[in-house]
Amino acid sequence: MSYVEAHDPVFHTYVLGNSHLKQIATGFDWTEGPVWFGDAGCLLFSDIPSNRILRWTPGEGVTVYRAPSNYSNGHTRDRQGRLISCEHGARRVTRTEHDGSVTVLAESYEGKPLNSPNDVVVSKDGTIWFTDPHYGIMTNYEGFQSDQELPCMVYRLNAETGEMTAVVTDMQCPNGLAFSLDETQLYVADTGRMYSDDPCAIRVYDVAGGEVSGGRLFHDIDTGKADGIRLDTDGNVWSSAGDGVHCIAPDGRLLGKILVPEKVSNLCFGGRAKHELFITATTSVYKVTLNRQGVQHP
Ligand code: MG
Repeated sequence: MSYVEAHDPVFHTYVLGNSHLKQIATGFDWTEGPVWFGDAGCLLFSDIPSNRILRWTPGEGVTVYRAPSNYSNGHTRDRQGRLISCEHGARRVTRTEHDGSVTVLAESYEGKPLNSPNDVVVSKDGTIWFTDPHYGIMTNYEGFQSDQELPCMVYRLNAETGEMTAVVTDMQCPNGLAFSLDETQLYVADTGRMYSDDPCAIRVYDVAGGEVSGGRLFHDIDTGKADGIRLDTDGNVWSSAGDGVHCIAPDGRLLGKILVPEKVSNLCFGGRAKHELFITATTSVYKVTLNRQGVQHP
């Protein structure tokens, strides 16, 4: 299988002999933020520069879910299955209610506007954790060029009370993020400031009682940068990279790669058994069926 590059023999058991990397949609500008809706049987994803959220349904293809989308980027679902979205254009995090109305959850911190929320996860306790790098306000390509008033940080948001805490403050530009299976660790990808030579890598932090401590190198991607990351049910970290999707063991070792012909931004697991990996990669969305299962999001 030409799309598989094993770095550890175990990776051969993660792929399927006759599965293939399938381009399921194309013609976009910069796809991001895939999220699977198992109950609706569809994938939502952002095409940031075209200011849309798209919906892909097996057998039906792509339709527009929301346009304009306020240049939305990353998405996830909360514990009630509601869509949580990061919006570059409105510089906020929103929740789409079951009736379709949109609730603003966060748009400022200590009186200053957020930069451009990028990616988001929901903890088992229902709190919403999101990254706020500056990419969406650096140019007019993925939002609106604006002055940066806050450092690029990771926030923990209690959507019930509106209380928001900056939990990771020592990264240049935090981007994708994911919890370990027991949620005692938080993986965060740093993609560095725009137009800089900042070192980029996935770092891992200790989490206890909503507090974050520590912070150390987890894995340095060997090709390009890590952006979106997701876990499988064995705790392996599946990360976007310049040449595809990399599978990284909990101890930080690269196990293998799914090579993708376009630069990958993000990924999510979906399908009947969460065994399908959906990959947003520049102009296209790809799907590959694996002998792995992703962690349910939420
Ligand atoms: Mg991202």
